[in-house]
Amino acid sequence: MVVKVPKACKNCSAITDEDKCPLCGNETSKDWQGYVIIVDHPRSEIAKKMGLHVNGKFALRVR
Ligand SMILES: [Zn+2]
Repeated sequence: MVVKVPKACKNCSAITDEDKCPLCGNETSKDWQGYVIIVDHPRSEIAKKMGLHVNGKFALRVR
Protein backbone atom coordinates (compact mmCIF):
# COMPACT_ATOMS: atom_id res chain seq x y z
CA MET A 1 0.00 0.00 0.00
CA VAL A 2 1.29 3.39 -0.95
CA VAL A 3 0.56 6.23 1.42
CA LYS A 4 0.49 9.56 -0.32
CA VAL A 5 2.33 12.32 1.45
CA PRO A 6 0.51 15.60 1.12
CA LYS A 7 2.54 18.34 -0.49
CA ALA A 8 2.23 22.09 -0.47
CA CYS A 9 2.67 24.49 -3.35
CA LYS A 10 5.81 26.61 -3.13
CA ASN A 11 4.00 29.51 -4.73
CA CYS A 12 0.47 29.68 -3.27
CA SER A 13 0.77 27.16 -0.38
CA ALA A 14 -2.18 25.04 -1.51
CA ILE A 15 -2.02 21.51 -0.12
CA THR A 16 -2.32 18.72 -2.66
CA ASP A 17 -1.18 15.14 -3.36
CA GLU A 18 0.06 16.11 -6.80
CA ASP A 19 3.56 17.11 -7.93
CA LYS A 20 2.12 20.20 -9.56
CA CYS A 21 -0.23 22.62 -7.86
CA PRO A 22 -3.81 22.30 -9.18
CA LEU A 23 -4.36 26.02 -8.60
CA CYS A 24 -1.31 27.72 -10.08
CA GLY A 25 0.69 24.89 -11.69
CA ASN A 26 3.82 25.50 -9.66
CA GLU A 27 6.06 22.91 -8.04
CA THR A 28 4.95 21.40 -4.73
CA SER A 29 7.11 20.49 -1.73
CA LYS A 30 6.89 17.80 0.94
CA ASP A 31 8.65 20.13 3.33
CA TRP A 32 5.94 22.27 4.86
CA GLN A 33 4.53 23.01 8.31
CA GLY A 34 1.06 23.69 9.64
CA TYR A 35 -2.02 24.43 7.64
CA VAL A 36 -5.23 26.40 7.64
CA ILE A 37 -8.53 25.50 6.09
CA ILE A 38 -10.25 28.39 4.36
CA VAL A 39 -13.99 27.83 4.04
CA ASP A 40 -15.22 31.37 3.45
CA HIS A 41 -12.35 33.32 1.92
CA PRO A 42 -14.10 36.70 1.45
CA ARG A 43 -14.74 36.85 5.20
CA SER A 44 -11.53 35.20 6.38
CA GLU A 45 -8.85 37.41 7.93
CA ILE A 46 -6.29 34.66 7.39
CA ALA A 47 -7.15 34.42 3.72
CA LYS A 48 -6.76 38.18 3.44
CA LYS A 49 -3.37 38.09 5.15
CA MET A 50 -2.17 35.25 2.97
CA GLY A 51 -3.58 36.80 -0.19
CA LEU A 52 -5.85 33.83 -0.92
CA HIS A 53 -8.85 34.08 -3.20
CA VAL A 54 -10.10 30.51 -3.05
CA ASN A 55 -11.33 28.13 -0.38
CA GLY A 56 -9.21 25.13 0.51
CA LYS A 57 -6.36 23.84 2.60
CA PHE A 58 -3.19 25.90 2.71
CA ALA A 59 0.18 25.40 4.38
CA LEU A 60 1.42 28.10 6.74
CA ARG A 61 5.05 27.53 5.86
CA VAL A 62 6.54 25.91 2.77
CA ARG A 63 10.25 25.45 2.24
ZN1 LIG B 1 -0.03 26.87 -6.19
